[in-house]
Amino acid sequence: MESQYAVFWFRRDLRLEDNAGLFHALTSGKAVIPLFIFDKQILDKLEKPFDARVDFIHQTLAELDAQLNAIGSSLQVYYGDPLSVWTQLTEQYAISAVYVNRDYEPYAINRDQLVEAFLVTQSIEFFSFKDHVVFEKDEVTKDDKNPYTVFTPYSRKWLLKLDAMAGHGAGEGPASLLDPFPSLDFIRAFAKIKRQLPFPSLESMGFAPTKMSFPAKTVPQGIIKNYDQTRDFPAIVGTSHLGIHFRFGTISIREKAKRALGLNRTFLNELIWRDFYAQILAHFPQVASRSFKPEYDLIKWRNDEQEFKHWCNGTTGYPIVDAGMRELNASGYMHNRVRMITASFLTKHLLIDWRWGEAYFAAKLLDFDLASNNGGWQWAAGCGTDAAPYFRVFNPYAQQEKFDKDFIYIKKWVPEYGTAAYPAPIVEHKLARERCLQVYKEGLAKAR
Ligand code: FAD
Repeated sequence: MESQYAVFWFRRDLRLEDNAGLFHALTSGKAVIPLFIFDKQILDKLEKPFDARVDFIHQTLAELDAQLNAIGSSLQVYYGDPLSVWTQLTEQYAISAVYVNRDYEPYAINRDQLVEAFLVTQSIEFFSFKDHVVFEKDEVTKDDKNPYTVFTPYSRKWLLKLDAMAGHGAGEGPASLLDPFPSLDFIRAFAKIKRQLPFPSLESMGFAPTKMSFPAKTVPQGIIKNYDQTRDFPAIVGTSHLGIHFRFGTISIREKAKRALGLNRTFLNELIWRDFYAQILAHFPQVASRSFKPEYDLIKWRNDEQEFKHWCNGTTGYPIVDAGMRELNASGYMHNRVRMITASFLTKHLLIDWRWGEAYFAAKLLDFDLASNNGGWQWAAGCGTDAAPYFRVFNPYAQQEKFDKDFIYIKKWVPEYGTAAYPAPIVEHKLARERCLQVYKEGLAKAR
């Protein structure tokens, strides 16, 4: 084993262009082995055999491999426990350095610590880079260095920071931090080696191809331009549908944020929300299982399993809720406005623990992201950072009147709405609202 390799380990950054960690690997002077590990520990928690996210990753890796094959390289794809894979790899190749982009989820942080500790024992350097967000957890903090837990001042500081970084990238002006890392220009630095093991098929990992169609990586300019006008109406294609691409890094956050800067500040604001929730999870990892405001864990949830089933299946008798759940079940997507309505309905009208809804969304959403999903659920339940006060209970009828007044979205997903086949509401709105206020009040009173 004479030659010294660097390895670039792809995780949630499945692209060759504008990839920070990959750029650093490819310019390190070493031949770079591209690697992806299908992590058994993650895959074993998913419902088999149909998981569209696994299918999406599989298809994306095949595309990456084809790009690499064109220059005589190939993606090394493994299926197993990451630490065992790394043991195997270090026995096979003379590796001197490993490059990754940072992942801020608790499981990933722990995994990376274990892998890094192992690599150190092999005298292999481990380099990690920021790529998944514009600003990481300690880059946008209050003046006293404490984390922000309220969005508006966070977003103000985020924008100031972007301005302050002017000229720190390749170009001038506030957007220069967002300039691309030209990783694709150095693609020839990939090692010209053949794959050691066959590319694992979906079936060999217990999965099967799904028929899900995935949103495009590019968005018509008009959608971003008019985003502030159209984003709240689920019957319109008024949002980007880029969530899955941000999740798996098939697009660059820098590129999209730079475009948003010039086109639509409301859209940029949503990307700031994404950074906001990522830093919340990084600073307060306990939110993954507990309420950000601990007193909300004293609420006595009703947790009626039958009602939960109605919610999951879209048969609550509340058409806007049912349309959202059916959209999710059929397409792996749900419009943001409707995510808010369905989440509020579950936690407040049905008094079902937000963690049940969070887990259901996690299993179904193509764009599932722990930080944003958890943030969205805790916001809806009232227990999160910057959450709506608990006594503000969404009225599903008023929401429908405002955002789907011609029932276009509802009719699309609930065709039997308005006929005898459509179920009666499983709970009466006024009663549910009063019960919610009572139960929340009692729970929160216990904390005093
Ligand atoms: P657009 O409206 O086009 O926005 C562009 C991008 O900005 C999104 O793709 C996303 O990356 C980011 N973004 C937009 N809104 C938010 C937000 N409120 N918080 C954080 N990032 C945001 N988003 C996820 O990416 N993954 C999730 O698992 C997720 N779960 C959610 C659960 C609930 C209960 C709620 C209320 C919201 C959740 N969101 C989640 C936020 C938001 O609903 C989705 O990001 C958005 O609907 C995705 O559609 P889009 O790509 O068309 O977004």
